[in-house]
Amino acid sequence: MLSVVIPLYNEEDNVAPLCEEIAQALSGHNYEIVLVDDKSSDQTLSRIPVQPHIRVIKFSKNTGQSGAMYSGIQAAHGDVLILMDGDRQNDPADIPKLLARLEQGFDLVCGYRASRKDTLSKRLTSRFANAIRSRFTRDGVRDTGCTLKVMRRECREALLPFNGMHRFIPALIKGMGFRITELPVHHRPRVAGVSKYGFGNRALRATTDMFAVRWLLSRQIQIKILPE
Ligand code: UDP
Ligand code: MG
Repeated sequence: MLSVVIPLYNEEDNVAPLCEEIAQALSGHNYEIVLVDDKSSDQTLSRIPVQPHIRVIKFSKNTGQSGAMYSGIQAAHGDVLILMDGDRQNDPADIPKLLARLEQGFDLVCGYRASRKDTLSKRLTSRFANAIRSRFTRDGVRDTGCTLKVMRRECREALLPFNGMHRFIPALIKGMGFRITELPVHHRPRVAGVSKYGFGNRALRATTDMFAVRWLLSRQIQIKILPE
């Protein structure tokens, strides 16, 4: 079974069309969609389609993208988890390609945005941040800012609930010894709703987190037990 995990904060015009696109991309698969509403103040909750395979987790206060993602990942029932944003910038049509790559012997397949559809300032700061982060944490992926990822359920053992964690998913999972790789994916402009981040609230925090994650990785325990 597949679980698609999506954090939502004020995505009222995106949530229904996104669920529809996922249904098309995953037709023939056994799947659930776990939507985590991060206490939206718009109509996001009431716009979520009522369908048996759609589950909703409702936060009582706005907690942030990392908390919403972490909670959805913990609640997922699938053997394979698909992570994506709720703003429709990720394209569900890429999911089958990522799943096929996972089957070739990986535990986590990270999408990277081959052609970004964001403002110039966002593209530049993101490129800079990705380069530094990747060098610092040795996660080996070029675009951790791309939420679209496919992972085996076991990988969630590596994740920790802290603000900013969503940027270090590959670093934490790779650090535990899982096999990770990356593939190019589509990226689309945000057509509805607004980005929740600006330069100020991203750059500084992400930099301090980077030092913390590097320290954590240097102390991380990889348990390897011999077969009986
Ligand atoms: N998000 C969230 N809580 C927040 C901020 C964002 O759940 O406090 C969600 C948001 O709805 C979206 C994803 O996290 O699904 C990424 O946010 P956004 O698109 O604003 O980030 P960007 O694409 O600009 O990096
Ligand atoms: Mg976005």
